[in-house]
Amino acid sequence: MTMKSPKAFVAGWPIDHSRSPLIHQYWLKTYNISGEYKKKAIAPDKFAAGFLQLRDKGYCGGNITIPHKVRVMKLVDETDVMARKIGAVNTICFHDDKIIGSNTDGYGFITNLQACAPQWSCRNSHAVILGAGGAARAVIAVLLSRGAQQIILCNRTLEKATELKARFGERIEVCGWERRAQILTETDLLVNTTSLGMIGKPRLDIDIGGLNEKAIVADLVYTPLETRLLHTARRNGHTIADGLGMLLYQAVPGFEIWFGRRPQVTAELRDLVIDDLAKRT
Ligand code: NAP
Repeated sequence: MTMKSPKAFVAGWPIDHSRSPLIHQYWLKTYNISGEYKKKAIAPDKFAAGFLQLRDKGYCGGNITIPHKVRVMKLVDETDVMARKIGAVNTICFHDDKIIGSNTDGYGFITNLQACAPQWSCRNSHAVILGAGGAARAVIAVLLSRGAQQIILCNRTLEKATELKARFGERIEVCGWERRAQILTETDLLVNTTSLGMIGKPRLDIDIGGLNEKAIVADLVYTPLETRLLHTARRNGHTIADGLGMLLYQAVPGFEIWFGRRPQVTAELRDLVIDDLAKRT
């Protein structure tokens, strides 16, 4: 972007909970970049008008979050491969007269996984994914793009898992929720993409005793930071990857597009967000 003092946003409804401003404002300050990043609450029935107004007000782009990630696809002129595969956009760039949408959730997931388990290779891997919602789509898309051989998708509502198999193809197998503990033996990677285990939600009830000791365990939930699943996995000797890491890494490509510098995910940034989470939960 060539603007002197670029302005970016995160648009959602509600938006108060978003940690994106904290992350982007930290990077703006760290790299001494003149720019701003603001929360924008846009109600679902006013989304199109509210979104286009941001462009007209001179914003160079921003993040799109719940519940707008799918509906924004109708308003963009171009999408990247990941957004098309996932069927949702979380990063917007207003470029000349075009609106370009991308999806960085899969990038955030895999980059965090690589940072936590540098020795792990996705190529030819076998993964089990719990959940078949929006977050599962991002994880599936990136694992397949990095050469995963098989993904077992285990979801409470089997139809939703079956829909994702139809979308993503033959490397996906579906499995009923009641079999979640029995499908772990051949797995290199277990990922919780359900909201179970999050503060205020029911616990994720799964016995991971059958997991191969080398398997990596990842959880997308980041409140609490170390979920019960991750706690048990760590105690059992597994390498773990938490949801906060994904949240931080998914923000990297957007910052680079809007503000012209590829930012680093540092321990200092992580601690800043952890402090904020502790204050608010
Ligand atoms: P979503 O589309 O609403 O999907 C929720 C998933 O959780 C569905 O598969 C749902 O199963 C399952 N689920 C909910 N309650 C359940 C229960 N009682 N028993 C079994 N399964 C249950 O949500 P999402 O957007 O995918 O987000 C899922 C989680 O990922 C949230 O906690 C979100 O905060 C987190 N997330 C984190 C990041 C990050 O950067 N770390 C990014 C995106 C999302 P059914 O299909 O049967 O309803």
